[in-house]
Amino acid sequence: MIISLRSISYDDLKNQLSKDDKIVINSCNTCIKSCGIGGLQNMTVLENMLLADGYNVLGIDLISIGCSLNLVEYHRQDIKKKEMYDEATVIITLICEDGYEGMKYVFKDKKVISITKTLGTGNFTMDRGVVLTHPFESTGLEKNSEGYELDEVAEKLGLFEDFFDEDDAAFKDEEYVDIIIDGEEVSAIKNQNLLCVCEENGIEIPHLCYNEELSEAGVCRLCLVKIEGRKDLVPACCTHVEEGMKITTNDEQLNKYRRIILELIMASQNHNCLTCSKGIPTPLYNCELQRLIRQFGIEKSRFDENNEFMPVDNSSPVIVHDPNKCILCGRCVRACEEIAGICNIGFINRGSETVVAAGLNVDMNQSDCAACMACVNACPTGALTEKVIHFTGKDWEPQKVYCEQM
Ligand code: SF4
Ligand code: SF4
Repeated sequence: MIISLRSISYDDLKNQLSKDDKIVINSCNTCIKSCGIGGLQNMTVLENMLLADGYNVLGIDLISIGCSLNLVEYHRQDIKKKEMYDEATVIITLICEDGYEGMKYVFKDKKVISITKTLGTGNFTMDRGVVLTHPFESTGLEKNSEGYELDEVAEKLGLFEDFFDEDDAAFKDEEYVDIIIDGEEVSAIKNQNLLCVCEENGIEIPHLCYNEELSEAGVCRLCLVKIEGRKDLVPACCTHVEEGMKITTNDEQLNKYRRIILELIMASQNHNCLTCSKGIPTPLYNCELQRLIRQFGIEKSRFDENNEFMPVDNSSPVIVHDPNKCILCGRCVRACEEIAGICNIGFINRGSETVVAAGLNVDMNQSDCAACMACVNACPTGALTEKVIHFTGKDWEPQKVYCEQM
């Protein structure tokens, strides 16, 4: 992983801008996100700060691997983004220094501003987060197999360890609404996604097809909630809050439905994954399906299991596609279109025959896959995994078992 830290303050950034600039903010979604200074959330923070200060921000764009020139070019030419990029005069890019050089190449006709300094390579540790293990000579730091924590490096080198502080800026006037969730009064931004509002207020709603970096789909139906006055149950991930809404997120009936959905998913494919690589207990690799199954205490599905085995596509040098673990949530399809900008994978067939396929139903290595991992990072199960971690197995929780003496 490439390690970068923020190199400029918000005031330094504003000094490089004028109110006449037409700004697009883009971000790589890999290393820089793990370092805490890139990704969708940070782009949104910066967009809000600049808008609040009267700058003209045309939009934001998340790119799966920003240091891939091909992907950046795809995004520039993408039919949904081309107009925005063509109109822009300034690109603020949240990317490592290498990626910044690529951005300047693709956007030669524009002013490209970077906010980062790249310091070397490192990795992610469970207890200390991201650490710098192999600093560049220019940092003056010694190689350190334990790794330097980023706040320590920031202090030593006079950099900033986190992203711009949104509290430093006066936000544009948002319209707020008062709603009631599970009997508690909550204030939320009008039209904000209900699932996000619940999560921001510490209310967890089970979900699998929703991912904050992707568009809303509402296909898994796990996040169904009750809204007073509505006869039907509504998916929280596709509902936007309005004044006076009274929402129930958790009761016996909702949990009964959720349990049935989970059991149906378990029965639909081979999800008894003893060797699944998503069993690794890191924030990136934990299987979201298994987590929910454990949370609901489900040991076995009451429905007949589908034992049909579909061939695993091992053809890509970096990705393993195991359709037997797919729950058809569509996150990979949306990630390939919205973050990679490629549209290489999609659903084929209909009904119970539906599967995710690459290209025109070819092996991954025969398709236009850019190996950017956007689909892998989006997949909540072990259906799309990184080849290097495949078959690394589950981290079993040890338990004491007592046997009664006969
Ligand atoms: S299939 Fe996956 S890895 Fe390939 S381009 Fe699409 S998102 Fe990237
Ligand atoms: S491969 Fe993964 S992300 Fe794609 S539909 Fe299947 S479970 Fe969802």
